[in-house]
Amino acid sequence: MSTLRFSALKKLPYLQPRRIEVPKKLSELYCEHVFSESTMREYLTKDAYQSILDAIKFGKKINREIADQIAVAMKDWALSKGVTHYTHWFQPLTGETAEKHDSFFTPIGEGRAIERFNGSLLIQQEPDASSFPNGGIRNTFEARGYTAWDPTSPAFIIDTTLCIPSVFVSYTGETLDYKTPLLKALQAVDEAATDVCQSYFDKNVTKVHSTLGWEQEYFLIDSSLFQTRPDLVLTGRTLLGHAPAKGQQLEDHYFGSIPTRVRNFMKELEIDCMKLGIPVTTRHNEVAPNQFELAPLFEEANLAVDHNSLLMDVMKKVSRRHGLNILLHEKPFDGVNGSGKHNNWSLSTNTGDNLLSPGKNPKKNLQFLTFFVNTIKAVHDNGDLLRAAIASAGNDHRLGANEAPPAIISVFIGSQLTNVLDELEKVTKGKLSPDEKTDLKLNVVGKIPELLLDNTDRNRTSPFAFTGNKFEFRAVGSQANCGEPMTVLNAIVAYQLRKFKKEVDTLIEKGLKKDEAIFNVLRDYIKESKNILFEGDGYSDDWVKEAKKRGLENRKTTPEALKFELEKKFISIYEELEILSHKEIEARNEIKLEKYSKMISIEAKVLGDIARNHIIPVAVDYQTKLIENAKGLKEIFGEKEMKSMCTEQLDLIKRISTHITEIKSNVDKLFTERDKAINITNPAKQAEAFCNKVKPIFSLIREHSDALEMLIDNEMWPLTKYRELLFTI
Ligand code: ADP
Ligand code: MG
Repeated sequence: MSTLRFSALKKLPYLQPRRIEVPKKLSELYCEHVFSESTMREYLTKDAYQSILDAIKFGKKINREIADQIAVAMKDWALSKGVTHYTHWFQPLTGETAEKHDSFFTPIGEGRAIERFNGSLLIQQEPDASSFPNGGIRNTFEARGYTAWDPTSPAFIIDTTLCIPSVFVSYTGETLDYKTPLLKALQAVDEAATDVCQSYFDKNVTKVHSTLGWEQEYFLIDSSLFQTRPDLVLTGRTLLGHAPAKGQQLEDHYFGSIPTRVRNFMKELEIDCMKLGIPVTTRHNEVAPNQFELAPLFEEANLAVDHNSLLMDVMKKVSRRHGLNILLHEKPFDGVNGSGKHNNWSLSTNTGDNLLSPGKNPKKNLQFLTFFVNTIKAVHDNGDLLRAAIASAGNDHRLGANEAPPAIISVFIGSQLTNVLDELEKVTKGKLSPDEKTDLKLNVVGKIPELLLDNTDRNRTSPFAFTGNKFEFRAVGSQANCGEPMTVLNAIVAYQLRKFKKEVDTLIEKGLKKDEAIFNVLRDYIKESKNILFEGDGYSDDWVKEAKKRGLENRKTTPEALKFELEKKFISIYEELEILSHKEIEARNEIKLEKYSKMISIEAKVLGDIARNHIIPVAVDYQTKLIENAKGLKEIFGEKEMKSMCTEQLDLIKRISTHITEIKSNVDKLFTERDKAINITNPAKQAEAFCNKVKPIFSLIREHSDALEMLIDNEMWPLTKYRELLFTI
C-alpha cells in the first residue's frame, strides 16, 4: 500500500500548474452565462420583461401566457450559447444541489425534430426523486416530488445545460428543500420590516430585502494524495494521522503568498463565477496550511444562497481540472483550524437604506437602533433555534475547538454600541419629559457615528457579531447550505418585529408618542436580552463558565442541539409565519438526525476498515522484521549479547503488540456499538447512540494508530502523512 503513497508523492515536484488565460477585464465576463435582467430585456417582450421584474421585486405571480413567452426566450438565448438540455436545479436536504437533465429535442414526425420548451416545462418538472431525504413525509410508493421554477433567481448555463433555479416539494405539497422555507422567511421579514419602517420611519418604504454576504473557507490537496486516503475519499476528513512537527504555529500561511497551482485554480474559478454572475471579489490564504477563503459581494439573500450552493459545486469541478481536490468539510485535519462560512446579514429597503447602518440624523438612528435591538432580542429569545440551524456532524468538531466560536450563542456589539444600549436602558418608563427627549435625541441617538464600520472592534471569537453595518453569523459550517441559517435568522427577526410593532402600537394607543413608545419597548428588550451580550474572548474557558452562570446553553453536539428544534415555542413561530408546518418541522428534524447518524456510521466503518486492512497488517509486518532481526542477532551472538544489543527492537516489538491489541479490541467494540446503534429505530435515540457510544471510540483507535505511525518505518507506512497532505501544493 505504501507504494501508492510514494508513487503519488514522487509525481508532485514535476506537476506543472495548469495555465489559465485571464481576460483583460473580468467585468466583461460578468453574467455571460446568466439569463440576467439585461439579457431578458433583449429577449423578452416589454410585458414579459415587466412581469418577471415584478416577480423578482414584488413577488408577483407570472401568468401562463407570459411564462410561455419567457420559456421561448430562455430557450432561444440558451440555444445561442450551444445549450442542448435544461434542468430544474434545486437544493434537496441532502445538502448537495440536484439536477435532472431533459433535452429540448422533440421529434415532430417524418424523421424531423425541433428544439422545444414551453411555459409548463419551465414552471414545473417532475424529477424521479424517490431517494431524496423526506423524513417519512412522502410515501415511497408514490415517490413523487416536483420542482417548481423560482423566477426570483435567474436561470444560468452550466456546460450545455440550462439550469432553472427551483423549489422542491412533495406531491402532497410539503417542502423538501432549503429554498422553499427560505423564500417564505424572506417574505415574512419583508412584510414585518416594511410595516415597521412605514409606520414609524419612512412612508416610502415598500419592500425590505434581506442581504447575505457569505465567506467560504476550504482546503485544497493534491488529487493523487487525496486518492491514497480512503478516509478523505469516503468521509471528507482524515480519521487518522499523527500531527506534523509543523502545523500552523508560525502563522506563516495566513494572508501569505498564494502557491501558483492554487492561484491558477482560483483564477479559473473566478472566471467561471463571473460568467455565472457570482460576484466574487476576495481571495486569500487562511490560517491553516493549505486552507483558503473566497468571498463575493453581498447580494439579496435568496440569490446569495443559490450562488453559494452553485459555487460549492463549481469549486469541486474546477479543482479537479487542476489536479486538486477541494475539502469543504468543517474539520478535515485534526490539530489545525477547520473551515467555516461566515454569513454576513443585513436588511435593506427599496429606498436604499441599510437598516443596520446608522444614519445621518436622529430619526435614521432610531430606525437603526430599532432593527439592531430587535435582532439582538430575536437571537436572545431563539438562540436554540439558531444553534440547531448550524448543527451537523462536521460542525461538531469545530464549534468550541479554540478556532471557532463555541456552541454558546452570544452577541458581540462593540464598546460604542454597548454604551448606547446602557444609556437607552435608563430611559424612564412611560411618558418622557421634554428634557429627557432632547437629551436622548442629542446625546444618545444623535451621537451614533454614521460610520461605525471602521470603529467597531473586530471580535473574531463571537458566533454572532455586529460589524458596523451588518451582523455576522460566524458559527455556520463550511459545507452547510446557507439556506437553513438564513431561514432561521430571517424568521426569528420577522417574528420579533411583528411583536415589536404590536407592543409599540399598544403604547401609542395608550397615549404615548411614537418615539416614546419605541424607546419604552426598546428599553425593555435591552434589559431582557442583556445576558446574551458578550464582548470578551469567546474561545476562553472563562466564557464557558460565565455563560453557564448567565443561564446560556452550550449544546456541544448535534443530537443535543436538534432536540430543541421541536420545542412548542419554535414550532408556533414557524406556523404563525407560515414557513413550515408542524409535520414539516418534524420531518426535517428527523432528516438531520438521520444524516448525522449516517455520517458517524460511515466514519465508523471506514475507520474500522482502515485499522484492520491498512494499519494492523503493516504493524505486524514491521514487527516481524524486528523479530527476524533479533532472531538473527541471537543466532550470531547468543541470547545474552543479543538482549543487550536489541533493547530498541525488543521494546518496539512489545509496544507494537500493545497498540495492535488495543486497536483490535477497540475496532471490535466500535463495530459492536455501531451495529447496536444501527438497530435503534427512533432517530433521536439513534443519533444519541452514535454520538455517545460510537463516536468516542474513534479517538481511542486513533491514539494507538497515530502512535504506531511514529514507531513504524516511514517507508512502510501506508497512509499519506499529515506533513505530506498539508505542505505539498
Ligand atoms: P471580514 O469579515 O473578512 O473582515 P468584512 O466584514 O469587510 O470582511 O466583509 C465581509 C463580507 O460582508 C463581505 O463578503 C461583504 O459582501 C459582506 N457584507 C458587507 N455589507 C453587507 C450587507 N449590508 N449585508 C450583507 N453582507 C454584507
Ligand atoms: Mg468575516
